[in-house]
Amino acid sequence: MKKKSSFQVFCVIGKSGSGKGTQVELLKKKLGKTHHIVNGDLFRAFIKSNHPFAARIGKIVNSGGLPPAWFSAYLWESELIRFTGPKIKTAIFEGTPRRIWEAELLDEIAYFMFGLKPIAIYLDISDKEAKKRLLRRLICKKCKQPVPYKLIEKNPKTCSFCGGAIIKRKDDDEGSIKKRLVWYKTEVLPTIEYYRKQKRLVSINGEQDVSAVFAELWGKLKKKI
Ligand SMILES: [Zn+2]
Repeated sequence: MKKKSSFQVFCVIGKSGSGKGTQVELLKKKLGKTHHIVNGDLFRAFIKSNHPFAARIGKIVNSGGLPPAWFSAYLWESELIRFTGPKIKTAIFEGTPRRIWEAELLDEIAYFMFGLKPIAIYLDISDKEAKKRLLRRLICKKCKQPVPYKLIEKNPKTCSFCGGAIIKRKDDDEGSIKKRLVWYKTEVLPTIEYYRKQKRLVSINGEQDVSAVFAELWGKLKKKI
């Protein structure tokens, strides 16, 4: 008989500006022994590496294209293989999966490795709220961390994490935000439905303040784990 795994895999998904990074940090503190996986960071690290294949992936990603499915799978698998062990009990994917085929792929990987399928945590905010947040958003040029909302009004010049310069992302303008929201509706919403149908979705009102979002998240997640 197959032993039930004590390992857990969570995916935190939601529009840009929904506060995924902040909530993942809170969840990590609560759970301990977690490994945090940010898809964009994995791609960026690979593109920067000296691997002969890096330039090709860079070209695809930087032109807004999609790398092959097996390549995303390779990055996720290597993270899980390298970092899960006795010291890690939970893997948290931030901003992944976005499309249904990615969700199916991640299901297959998690099921093979840990005998389970991931639970998705969805931070739900309206288009209007996403737009409002993204138009104000500032990030660090060096470490890419967003400036916490409480600090934005103080108009900081340097990053409180690494001291890097604070900038506005080039694509945080009305036109690009609108495009991203349309993309979200066609590509990501069906994925959220995929999790909902399989009763693996924890849906949270992401428009509350940070601590209220986390209270709702933790309250609902506890019942699933
Ligand atoms: Zn920084």
